[in-house]
Amino acid sequence: MNFLARRLRSLQSRLVERHDAGNVVLFVLGLWPMLAVLWALQAAAWWVEPVRALYQPALLPSAHVLLSLLMAWLAFMGWVGWRRRHDPSPQPWLVQLTLVPGIGTLVGLSVGHGLHDNPLSMLILDVLVLSRALFPLRVLRAAWGLALGMALLSEVLQGVGALVYAPLLIQPIFVGEALHPWWAMWVRVIFSMAVLILSAVLFLLAHTLRRRRAELETLVRTDMLTGLANRREFMTGLERESLRQARSGRPLSVVLFDVDHFKRINDTWGHPVGDEVLARIGALLRSHTRDQVDTAARYGGEEFVLLLPDTSLDGAQLVAEKIAARLRDEVFDACGQRFLVTQSVGIAQVVEGDGGWALRVADRNLYQAKQAGRDRIVASMAFKEDDAMSPHP
Ligand code: GH3
Ligand code: MG
Ligand code: MG
Repeated sequence: MNFLARRLRSLQSRLVERHDAGNVVLFVLGLWPMLAVLWALQAAAWWVEPVRALYQPALLPSAHVLLSLLMAWLAFMGWVGWRRRHDPSPQPWLVQLTLVPGIGTLVGLSVGHGLHDNPLSMLILDVLVLSRALFPLRVLRAAWGLALGMALLSEVLQGVGALVYAPLLIQPIFVGEALHPWWAMWVRVIFSMAVLILSAVLFLLAHTLRRRRAELETLVRTDMLTGLANRREFMTGLERESLRQARSGRPLSVVLFDVDHFKRINDTWGHPVGDEVLARIGALLRSHTRDQVDTAARYGGEEFVLLLPDTSLDGAQLVAEKIAARLRDEVFDACGQRFLVTQSVGIAQVVEGDGGWALRVADRNLYQAKQAGRDRIVASMAFKEDDAMSPHP
């Protein structure tokens, strides 16, 4: 029971997460049993003489071979996906190589059996919905375009007499009196409408789930007041960048800011003015950091931190000086009175030890900046023999 519940939970999270390799495995697992049933039916047609007589003798083997090849191919793709199931990076080629042959072959078989009156269309619908649940829309364009193109092409070819209806069969599945044209039209309209509505609802659900997830992820990573990254996001980035630094040896610096006498600002002008100051400092930090490369975060209360990959101590110091200078020029006002705000800054470049160690050294440097009279920068390399075990000497 527990096992089932766990599997179900992992399936649910797959449906909202984008993870190409793992989702390819799920797609294959979802499609393969249906194909196996189809294969068994096709095999039975091959072995049972009176049933074989229902198929075009020249085409039956090729349909069977096509289906077998598809199953082998999908099993292979499923295996490739399984081996990469822990790799979260996008793998569009794997998705395309699974979806395009899968959906294309199914549509081909459906056309072969007569597109209008065989239940393979329901199977195709299943596959479309499954693929929409597992993959983003833009990934599906090729496979869906191919399916639509094949269906339209078969209609046109049949319309101009270049292709017989249900070419795989001696005669279509449903024989007997043709439906009255009204009922033929009526049935098609109702069926298409039901399919369209069902698909639209399912697609909308999948889309909404993804969007909600993206919004929640942003919320979890963002500081509400300043719009900067929050401490959790910064710590994640610090861990990632310090691993990268250890591998590449490229410089990595951490800059810690603490607003000077912030309590006084709150006490003098009120908490909302304090909030406004924090928001403006947040904007200042954002405008002085590189998009996609640096992380500017609110570390806590009136403390901010920058994570600067590919930046040496000198570079980090330059950034901090620019920000401090801009802050000194920034005029704040409350109740018609103007006031200025300064910050103390501690900087460390990762040298020995990890990013966490550099953060402690930066904190120690910040403390020294405060001790030395505030509104200044103290920077140093984060060496292990540094006295940073007692950052507040
Ligand atoms: P120092 O120069 O030594 O850093 O002095 P300080 O007054 O800045 O430092 P202290 O740590 O004594 O005070 C920090 C204040 O920041 C206390 C707290 O009420 C205030 N604070 C923390 N978070 C917020 C916030 O979100 N909004 C506002 N308005 N104030 C905050
Ligand atoms: Mg503080
Ligand atoms: Mg302070």
